[in-house]
Order: sequence, then C-alpha cells, then structure tokens
Amino acid sequence: MAPLIAFVTRTPPEADALQKLRAAMPAETILPMRDIADGDFASVDIAIVANPDPADLARLPNLKWIHSTWAGVERLVSELKDSPLPIVRLVDPQLSFNMAEAVLAWTYYLFRDMPAYARLQRERNWHPLGYRRADQTTVSLLGLGALGTAATSRLKEAGFQVAGWSRLPKQLEGVETFSGEDGLMAILAKTDILVCLLPLTHETTGMLAARHFAALPKGAEFINFARGKIIVTADLVAALDSGHLKHAVLDVFETEPLPVEDALWRNPGITILPHISGPTDPDTAAGIVAANIAAYRRTGVLPATVDRTRGY
Ligand code: NAP
Repeated sequence: MAPLIAFVTRTPPEADALQKLRAAMPAETILPMRDIADGDFASVDIAIVANPDPADLARLPNLKWIHSTWAGVERLVSELKDSPLPIVRLVDPQLSFNMAEAVLAWTYYLFRDMPAYARLQRERNWHPLGYRRADQTTVSLLGLGALGTAATSRLKEAGFQVAGWSRLPKQLEGVETFSGEDGLMAILAKTDILVCLLPLTHETTGMLAARHFAALPKGAEFINFARGKIIVTADLVAALDSGHLKHAVLDVFETEPLPVEDALWRNPGITILPHISGPTDPDTAAGIVAANIAAYRRTGVLPATVDRTRGY
C-alpha cells in the first residue's frame, strides 16, 4: 500500500485546511484520523498537524516525521517530549509578511498616540499631543527569526530606528543588534517601543519581568505578539499602573481566550487583541507543506526540524 498522510488536529473545523492540503498534493492520500481504518495506521509515514492530540500520533507506529501548520510549536515540543519524532514547523513568507504588517500597524497605533486620542475623544477633550519623529524613535524586536527579521524591514522602511535581540549574535543591515543577558539590558535602555517575537521555550518562559520593564525608559510601550507566558503579566501591569510604561498591546495570553473576568480587559493601559497578529494563510501554508513533503518524497531528506533541546 502507498504511504498515507494523516491530518491530525483537535481544533475543528478541519475541512477547509484538508481541502487545501489535498489540492496542493493531488498525488498524496491525506486522511483525517477518523477516516483511517485501524489496519491502515501502519501505512502512515507523515502527519500534518494543527494542535494534535498526542494520543492520536501514538497510534501511528511507522510515523517518520510531523509537519506542523503552525509557526509556534511549544505545545507540540512539550507534549511530545518523550518521542524522538522530528518536528517541522511552518516557515511561510506570507506569515512573516502578515506579522510584519501587524508589527507596523500596532507600532503606528502607539507611535501616533491612538490610545490617548481615543481617551480624549471619550472625554470630548480637544487636546493635541506632541509629535515625535519616527527617525527619533527606536523600535526594538526581541527575536530576530523568520518573523522578527521581516518586521525589522517594514519598520526601517517606515523610517524608525530599529534594534533587535537574539540568542546568538546576528548582523542585519540597518539594525543595531544585541544578544545575551547584557545585550538584553542594553537594548531595553534605548527602546521606545518593544516588540516581543520570541518563541516560548524553557529559557523564555517568564523571561520578561519587573527588572526588564524597569530597564525600559519611562513612557516606553510594549507589544506582545509571541506568547503570553513569556512575560510576567503582573509585573507588566505594575509597570503600566505606576506610569512607568505608557501602554501595552497584548495579542497573546497565558490563558486563551482571555477569561471575561480577567482584569486585563478593564486596564486602560492595555489594548487586548484576540491572537490575530500573525494568522496562518491556509493557501500558502498548504503550498509550503506540499513543497516540503514533495522534496522529502524525492530525496528522503527532511526539511529543517525543530531543535528539541533549544525548544524552537
Ligand atoms: P524563529 O524563526 O524560530 O525565531 C526565533 C528568534 O528568537 C530567533 O532570533 C532566536 O535567536 C530568538 N530566541 C530564541 N530563544 C531566545 C533566547 N533565549 N534569548 C534570545 N533570543 C532568543 O521563530 P519565528 O518564526 O520568528 O516565530 C517567533 C514566535 O512567534 C513563534 O515561536 C510563535 O510563538 C510566535 N507567533 C505568534 C503568532 C501570533 O499570531 N501571535 C503567529 C505566529 C507565530 P537565534 O536567531 O539566535 O536563534
């Protein structure tokens, strides 16, 4: 029997993603778990996953590797910690474009004082605030991967001073780059708008805490488009409530959806977004997954896989 591909998800609906994957790979047989007969589980060699139940993956004895249709794979890495299966994550230029667009949009939202003007309108208060120039404003990216790097380009085109921080030293034209713990404190000290695009790993969990928010200049602002657990939320709220930080835009939270009773909803210093900054495009994602699987069928070589020790 020809090899099968399983589509494994616990986040319905799946019909649209399945249809796009099948259209991108007409020569492959791609089946959701419920449509694979018990006797055919052994024929599955690749699983395409979106938030899969690890118990489903465990039923596939000859699985060689897993392709996630998501860019963030922290849950997969943690739930499959005892499995040696290689994990390939989604790296899609369209996703990077979408995220870079969101970084620019919400940077402008903060830079042009939209939260303050919304408040002034509610107060019917005609009160022009001062203007600051983009080339005198530093926007810093924590994380210079597929998404962070794309964001630096959009920000540079918009005329901002751009800085970035990564685990290993990195050179990017027109971007002042930093790495390591000393580098983190140095970048924070010169940042007006801080954008988090780090993966959630054992190193980054709870990484941004009181001393980091204190190291930002007074009046600095913060955008989290990565994962909620990277920040100590209570410390961010304290920095906003004390007036040290001016405003935060949060797209990601420790618990999602953010519970209706959560006080973050009512904090005037926080803009809440429902995890929409970097949507996966099902069409381009299907194309990327198809190209990776076709290359594997042709050469037997896997695309770049997630480093399980690093966690990203
Ligand atoms: P990536 O290509 O793996 O890049 C990760 C970057 O973070 C790299 O520059 C890496 O440094 C840096 N990094 C990792 N651990 C670090 C540490 N301990 N200290 C300093 N820097 C560290 O990831 P990506 O594709 O850009 O995606 C980033 C994250 O965005 C994803 O993991 C996901 O959680 C999130 N995301 C959110 C949404 C949304 O809608 N909100 C959508 C998609 C993705 P090196 O360059 O030195 O390796």
